[in-house]
Amino acid sequence: MGLLKSQVAESWAIDSESWPLEDQESAVQQIDQVLAVFEGCFGHELLMQRRVIMKHSLIEEPYTHALKDDIKPKNTFEVYLVNVINNPSRFYYQAAHEFSHVFTGCYPEMISFNWISECLCSAATFYVLKKLSSKSEYESIIESPLRQRRNWTSLKDYYCSNGDELGKDPYGQIDESTQTRPRNDMIATWFLEVIEQNPSGWKSIARMKDSDINLQNFANDAGDSTGAYLVLWYVQCESDCERLFAEAISGQIGYSFTLKDPPDHINC
Ligand SMILES: [Zn+2]
Repeated sequence: MGLLKSQVAESWAIDSESWPLEDQESAVQQIDQVLAVFEGCFGHELLMQRRVIMKHSLIEEPYTHALKDDIKPKNTFEVYLVNVINNPSRFYYQAAHEFSHVFTGCYPEMISFNWISECLCSAATFYVLKKLSSKSEYESIIESPLRQRRNWTSLKDYYCSNGDELGKDPYGQIDESTQTRPRNDMIATWFLEVIEQNPSGWKSIARMKDSDINLQNFANDAGDSTGAYLVLWYVQCESDCERLFAEAISGQIGYSFTLKDPPDHINC
């Protein structure tokens, strides 16, 4: 397999045999632009802890999967991207979303929580687009989800009415004309606020592991299984910035818990 390595993190590479030759250089450039934004928030070390092979998706839909024979923790991934090199904003949109899945370890094993990581991945998309696209292009992309969100006073309000549906269908319907998922993009606009307030806490998505710990241990304190999942995420965070991030996302959904011993000053 021929590999074209990222300049930002060399453990990330394009499988050159799967990409059209004439688009390979642009693909690596655009991938590196997205990875540079991740590196700014996550740090170089966390990027290098993942081994990622990027391939050309032939099904016109991007997706990510962890290699099955990998040992835990999962850290080797294949990311399939659609070749939309001539439309950089669309390329950033899909790459930022899929790269986020690399850090969440793909998808929680219990489907009822997948909507949380899905919408965090979509929020990452907006964060990256805001940095890399023109102001007018970014505004035109986020305008519709922001308009849709005006029907609700808060994410908690939306979750109270739609929590069951979110638990059953974490992806929401796709808009074929724009290849976006309007419902999740709407939720992502709330999560985006947390990333923008605390960009270095965003890497807490790398702590969203749910397979090794029994959620029941947390369910009593948290009230229900979604609350338990959020507490589990919170307790696996590795810094105050990350805990603040998990706390803020949980608070938006309507679950509150706080740092046990908050430091006097948190520099996030
Ligand atoms: Zn996704």
